[in-house]
Amino acid sequence: MDELKNIMDAAFPIIQEKLGYTDSVFAVWFSELTLVELTDKEAIFTTPSKLKKNILATKYSDVVKEALTSVIGFEVDPIFKFIGEDEEFPEPVTLFEKRQESEETKNARAAEFNRLLSPDSASSVLDGYTFDNFVRGDSNEFALSLCLAVAHEPTTYNPLFIYGDSGLGKTHLLAAIVNYIKKNSPHLRIVYKKSEDFINELIQAISTGSTVSFKEKYRRADVLLIDDIQFIAGKESTQEEFFHTFSALYEANKQIILTSDRPPREIQPLEDRLRTRFEGACIADVQPPSFELRLAIIRKKSADMGITLDDELINYMAERLQNNIRQIEGVLKRIGALRTMSGGGLTKEKLESIISIIAPDSIPPDVMVDKIISVVAKKNGLRPEDLKSKKRQDHIAKARHVAIYIVRNMTSLPLQTIGQIFNRDHTTIMSSIEKVEIEIKTKKNAHAEINALIKQIKG
Ligand code: ADP
Ligand code: MG
Repeated sequence: MDELKNIMDAAFPIIQEKLGYTDSVFAVWFSELTLVELTDKEAIFTTPSKLKKNILATKYSDVVKEALTSVIGFEVDPIFKFIGEDEEFPEPVTLFEKRQESEETKNARAAEFNRLLSPDSASSVLDGYTFDNFVRGDSNEFALSLCLAVAHEPTTYNPLFIYGDSGLGKTHLLAAIVNYIKKNSPHLRIVYKKSEDFINELIQAISTGSTVSFKEKYRRADVLLIDDIQFIAGKESTQEEFFHTFSALYEANKQIILTSDRPPREIQPLEDRLRTRFEGACIADVQPPSFELRLAIIRKKSADMGITLDDELINYMAERLQNNIRQIEGVLKRIGALRTMSGGGLTKEKLESIISIIAPDSIPPDVMVDKIISVVAKKNGLRPEDLKSKKRQDHIAKARHVAIYIVRNMTSLPLQTIGQIFNRDHTTIMSSIEKVEIEIKTKKNAHAEINALIKQIKG
């Protein structure tokens, strides 16, 4: 046992160094981690939190493995196990429970506070966004776990900063936190604000000379959630005020949760001291959903809306709507509306026309293929037909390989279909793709050249 402890005493500083975490952030994830068994293949760890177990396994496995290897001299796979009571989360924080007032008084006060100060958090705008109806996938798992942890036990990860492109579920997660806290910790005072509203309110307060009460109200929050904080960029007086609110709440150990469409370093211009605060937050991103997650979301949402869809149509939707879950929802709503209006069955053509209205940025595969072929041909001084022809001259073959590679990457069409487009069988298509992959690995400019083409095709 002592030996295992010695190993971890040596490994922890290496892990912390690799992650670049401060002591307190490092402790959040690793303080309860115990190495209980070491074999020639595996290192078995236990942790008393299911949530942390999941996060350790998905996010920190590689770094733990590397550190262990450097300490013990051979490679082992870390396995993380949850031990203890079968509860989802750590014990709730006691911080907010020690007030003298009775339960009812506290709850009533908090409700009143929420109603006055943060109408959005008290009203129904956020209704319907819960953790239960948030579909989990690799691309959002990390952010989701942190939001759950914070909702259950405010200040576990403080401040929390969630970023990602539009339509990927950030507002949904914030709303889920608000709804969870309202239900499970009704004595907490919540301020949920879109940053535009925060900014407007501040401007209003300045013009009516009521900044003092503005400040006081915000600083009485137990949990402050600001959605789309990137809008604060370039707004000096708002940044100044927000910095003070942020600091006051943070120092009073109140939970702060921010979302943004970009990471802190890309919010420009932003005061240095505010940037430092944001960068010191617990930061999680939400990525565009994988094909599997898109399928799962379409299945769940269509079922919830009482819409039955063929597998073929579900697949087609998942293929076409890659970057934005809001668009998936928009298309489903439209299908729902059409269904009630016409009662007719949904065909692929009808679906395509809905998609082209709701997601005009998402180009149908056949249009995309034509565009790729014409851009690649033009770049090489050829005609589009040349790329589909049997001609074997070196420069034509090369351009053809590139076009095939880009079609595969931008459309995720099956090899067979790509074969039909280029009048070749699927093994030839495969070998074209491989040739370009080798080129990218071995030739200095190949990658940049392909990226430039892709950019042109998208533009
Ligand atoms: P963002 O704030 O990141 O722009 P939203 O939270 O507004 O995105 O999400 C857009 C829509 O997609 C919302 O209606 C939301 O409910 C839905 N959505 C996003 N991610 C998921 C998910 N993982 N599961 C279920 N619905 C989701
Ligand atoms: Mg949003």
